[in-house]
Amino acid sequence: MNLRSTGASGPRPRSNAITVDVEEWFHICGVGPLSHERWDSLPSRVVLTTRALLEELDRAGVRATFFVLGWIAERYPGLVEEIRASGHDIGSHGHLHARVHELDAETFVADVRRSVAALRAAGVERIEGFRAPEWSINDRSLWALECLVREGITLDASMAPVRIVGSTRYPRGPHVRDTPAGPIFEVPPLVVDRFGHAMPIGWGWGFRMTSPRRMLRTIESVNAAGQPAVLTVHPWEIDPEPPRVSLPPRLRFAHYFRLGGFRDRLAAVLAAGDFGALSDVPALQASR
Ligand SMILES: [Zn+2]
Repeated sequence: MNLRSTGASGPRPRSNAITVDVEEWFHICGVGPLSHERWDSLPSRVVLTTRALLEELDRAGVRATFFVLGWIAERYPGLVEEIRASGHDIGSHGHLHARVHELDAETFVADVRRSVAALRAAGVERIEGFRAPEWSINDRSLWALECLVREGITLDASMAPVRIVGSTRYPRGPHVRDTPAGPIFEVPPLVVDRFGHAMPIGWGWGFRMTSPRRMLRTIESVNAAGQPAVLTVHPWEIDPEPPRVSLPPRLRFAHYFRLGGFRDRLAAVLAAGDFGALSDVPALQASR
């Protein structure tokens, strides 16, 4: 099925969005043996795993927004073309998967430009959306939003309303952030309160540990409160044979916890929910 052939009026409006951060299994920030100088020597799985995700989305008739790492677009322009030809939206996930709060503004802008150039060279005409690696636009790097506006980015999806990578003070719904260069539309990932804490149910270990039934019920209640839910997955999360390295406990949990069976759980959520790309969700457009 070609998701573009949905009629002259384009894809129908959806209540919730699914996003994909397109990167390799070894794109984990802050791990010495996985530093970017070594990436070309590590086994690549991204084409196989991204194709598997494309299959699942196609099977469910769901469009998604793919935030593609520039480093991936440079090496696999054909994969970017496959994503685009399948009818999905494409944004930038940066180039070298660096945490924004560890960069200065000049290095960040250079990284964003490099990723945008790689995506353009792979045939993507307009890049309007950005997601930072590891939700790394937070109180330590709010300056980055102004840089993004100056680079022509109108939507950012990098600020997580949870403690570890962001702040529980951040709004849980889409909102506009003002910068000296103009406004930018901020789209947070889905979090819910569990046991007195904001839990990242919309991505990573939080998504993988949640049964499809509970995920769908949670999304229903978020929608009933007038908000869209934004979910995020990575190609490496559905790798049938994921390569592993030794990681510190927090990263081990974030990357390896309950990968088994995730492809089936994701497929069940996609089949029963009402998902589209960020641009298919009116609540994510209204205030832009
Ligand atoms: Zn990433």
